[in-house]
Amino acid sequence: MAEIKAQRGLALRCKGWRQEALLRLLENVMENAEDQSQLIVYGALGKSARNWPSYRAIVAALKTIAEDETLIIQSGKPIGIIKTHVNAPLVIMANGNIVGQWANSDHFYQLQHKGLICWGGLTAGDWQYIGSQGVIQGTYEIFQTIARQHFNADLKGRFILTAGLGGMGGSQPLAGVMAGAAILCVDVNEAHIDKRIESGYLQKKTNQLDQALEWIDEAVKQKKSLSVGLIGNAAEIYPELLKRGLVPDIVSDQTAAHDLVYGYVPIGYSIDAVERARTEQPKALEKAAGESIAKEVTAMLAFKEKGSIVFDNGNNIRTQAAKYGVKDAFKIDIFTEAFLRPLFARAIGPFRWIALSGDPEDIKKIDRFILDEFADNQIVTNWIRLANQYVPFQGLPARIGWLGHGERTRLALAVNEMVRKGVLTGPVAFTRDHLDAGAMTHPNIMTEKMKDGSDAITDWPLLNAMVNCSSMADLVAIHSGGGGYTGYMQSAGVTLVADGTEQADARLKCTFDNDTTLGVLRYADAGYAESLDEVEKKGIHRIDTEQLKEENQNA
Ligand code: NAD
Repeated sequence: MAEIKAQRGLALRCKGWRQEALLRLLENVMENAEDQSQLIVYGALGKSARNWPSYRAIVAALKTIAEDETLIIQSGKPIGIIKTHVNAPLVIMANGNIVGQWANSDHFYQLQHKGLICWGGLTAGDWQYIGSQGVIQGTYEIFQTIARQHFNADLKGRFILTAGLGGMGGSQPLAGVMAGAAILCVDVNEAHIDKRIESGYLQKKTNQLDQALEWIDEAVKQKKSLSVGLIGNAAEIYPELLKRGLVPDIVSDQTAAHDLVYGYVPIGYSIDAVERARTEQPKALEKAAGESIAKEVTAMLAFKEKGSIVFDNGNNIRTQAAKYGVKDAFKIDIFTEAFLRPLFARAIGPFRWIALSGDPEDIKKIDRFILDEFADNQIVTNWIRLANQYVPFQGLPARIGWLGHGERTRLALAVNEMVRKGVLTGPVAFTRDHLDAGAMTHPNIMTEKMKDGSDAITDWPLLNAMVNCSSMADLVAIHSGGGGYTGYMQSAGVTLVADGTEQADARLKCTFDNDTTLGVLRYADAGYAESLDEVEKKGIHRIDTEQLKEENQNA
């Protein structure tokens, strides 16, 4: 079968740009997929569609639906088209949702085996993935926060140790280099290391630990940034570094540790052996992966003890280690709570835009607009300058920028105006990560240690999807964790198309204002001062039931 790539140019295959945009986004996640033949986009098992017949049926449906119709997708399979109205979403979907008592990985795999379910990842199943760039600013902001907190705001001459160079983890070496550090990234799969070198995210590779350490040592001494990919198993390399008395400044891991069968590769398993074990001996594989993770996390804890700044980068590695006997695993910080919560509490998070014509100049023009019009926003302008310099495009040209309430709408409306006036070659799609203020419940990542203890309440992403449907978004998705993530999380995604029309103005304004309003309200409800400040400053209509209670008592 011919390799799938996103269509470029201005020729339409659908009844309008909204539908064409969603089709191109679906093709784009396939173009960026880790394993296109199996529809696996990233995150070990995160898929764009349930299977090939479903994929083809989705493409056919997007080519035929009218503006006043809505395509319904259940776990990657299109199940019907309903008559709605021109302000309704064109696509709604629910991926991987299983009722609580049944929500475990064994049950998920049984359902998957029967062809009844698939995991949409966060951005795979709803066609929002833009390659490793999707999380790179998040990783960069983590490194910058650590620099400010521990290293006089400078990571030059600092050594970062991490692992995992897959779809998302592949952002780590570039984020490390952008922050000025020397970063060593361990991955068992040489093909994945090669992919990051080809895409410009990684600089050097070796299978020799001594060679890797020599390069890192040199870079540290000369205070030069450098990224090195080391072919090896993190569960062996981390303890080995410890044995040699090395103490990196920062330690993390972004292997697909959330999934013990399809993700993390145990010590002693080749890539071929692991593939075979998935079908022949999944239970033995699961146990071996859990035991290897326990070794790696024990080493991470020892690094912490010796002074390294150690954090979990959102792959559930602490949870797996705790299950396999590492009782102190949760002494390692989660990145959200340790570094990024003040931003999320203001609903500042990963916002993304994609040039649907395929013209990179469209993204450059938006970059220039941001540098001019958002000049007082240091986070985003600093990032846009760096991204311009360092971040290569993968698939359709795209950009990520952390923006908050009001800012997302301002940018989206300005871009829609640029499309209308022909300043840009073609329409632009807007989306954001599921890891966003009002959009995710994950008590071991996004919502760990919430101030009010509301970590596991999953009303928020469900409300978020309903808010965005009511606000005229073009695509709305509700996802739950699948594979090894089953039972751990729930999230919601949203996509809109700036096609230059006045209807798009209305959709963009209503959705992006309301999406971040919910984010601010979620954190305000949990008692975060930053959110309460945002409510006040931005005139968000919050109902304060505590205040009402007091008033009632005093009445
Ligand atoms: P992926 O499946 O594309 O890549 C995982 C990589 O880990 C692969 O290259 C694999 O070879 C490597 N690996 C597996 N076991 C290893 C071992 N023992 N030693 C060394 N390398 C090993 O997954 P991904 O999309 O890169 O995601 C990685 C993890 O990050 C997932 O758990 C995902 O859920 C999580 N994630 C976090 C965020 C965030 O915002 N922090 C965002 C997206 C994904």
